[in-house]
Amino acid sequence: MSRRASVVCITNQKGGVGKTTTAVSLAAALAQLGAATLLVDLDPQGNATTGVGQRVTEGEASSYGLLVDGQSVTSAARSTEVAKLTIVPSSLDLAGAEVELVPAFSREQRLRRALDDARADYDVILVDCPPSLGLLTINALVAADQVLVPIQCEYYALEGLGQLLRTVQLVGDNLNPDLILLGVVLTMFDARTNLAQQVVEEVRDYFGPQAFTTIIPRTVRLSEAPSFGQPITVFDPSSRGARAYERLAREVAARLTLPVEVPEPSPVDRLRARIDAADDPRDGPATPRDEEEARS
Ligand code: ADP
Ligand code: MG
Repeated sequence: MSRRASVVCITNQKGGVGKTTTAVSLAAALAQLGAATLLVDLDPQGNATTGVGQRVTEGEASSYGLLVDGQSVTSAARSTEVAKLTIVPSSLDLAGAEVELVPAFSREQRLRRALDDARADYDVILVDCPPSLGLLTINALVAADQVLVPIQCEYYALEGLGQLLRTVQLVGDNLNPDLILLGVVLTMFDARTNLAQQVVEEVRDYFGPQAFTTIIPRTVRLSEAPSFGQPITVFDPSSRGARAYERLAREVAARLTLPVEVPEPSPVDRLRARIDAADDPRDGPATPRDEEEARS
C-alpha cells in the first residue's frame, strides 16, 4: 500500500486555547473515519499522551528520543484504545530538549527527519505543540505540510495571531517552503455570550474560507474526557463535543483529500449541527467561571 501521510501541526502559542483537546479529539475522529492516524505529542506537559490513556515511565521511548537521540517513530509509537490511532507520547524530559538541542546540528530538522521516515505508514500525522514558539514548535512547523490553528472564542482571541502567522511565514520562507495554513478552528464556543458570536464573526471576516465551518462548543463532557484517558469520541460518542469533532474531522479529511469515505452531510446532519451550535441547557454551566457569570 502506498500511503504518504500529510503532517499537520496544531499550534497556537497561547496556552489553554484547545490545542490538545483538538489534537486528541480530531486524531480519534479521523482514525474512526478510517484514516491511519499518528498523533505526536510535542508538549512536555504530555496532555495528549494522558488524553489517550498512555503514560511514559523512565527510560521508555517518547518524542524526546525522536528529537534528541534520532530514534525512529516505530520505536516510540504505541497503539491506543482506538483502532488506527497510534501515538508517540511525550514526557517531561522534552522540556530539556529545547536547551539540549541549541548547539545541535540542524536542530530545527530533527522532527522532520523522524516523521519523513514514518509518512509511508500513515494517512495523517497530527502534532500537538506546546504553548510557545520555541524550538519544539519550530521543529513541528518544519516537519509539517499544514498548520491548523485553534482559536478560543474569547475576548483576546486574535491577539498574538499576527506573531504566530509571521512565524509560520518565516519558517515557510526559510526552512519549509511547502508549508501552508490548513485552517483555523474556533473552540470553546458558548452560545450564551454575545462575545463568542462576535469572535466568530471577527475570525470569519479575517480568515474567510480558511476558518472551518465547524465550531467546537464549550461543553462539560469535553473537559471531563481527559481525566478518563479517553478521546471524547470514545468517552461520550453521542455528546455535542464528539459530534463537533467528527464534523471537523470530515472537513479536515476533505481538505487533505484523505482516502476515507466522507459522506455529504444530510439535511438531518445539517440541522443537528445547527442545534448543536446553539445553547444546550442539558450541559449546564460550562465551567465554574461561567457559573459565576450566570449568577451575577
Ligand atoms: P491547550 O492545549 O491549547 O493548552 P487544552 O486543549 O488543553 O488547551 O484546553 C485547555 C483546557 O480547556 C483543558 O482543561 C480542556 O479540557 C479544556 N477544554 C478544551 N476545549 C474545551 C471545550 N470545547 N469545552 C470545554 N472545555 C474545553
Ligand atoms: Mg496542550
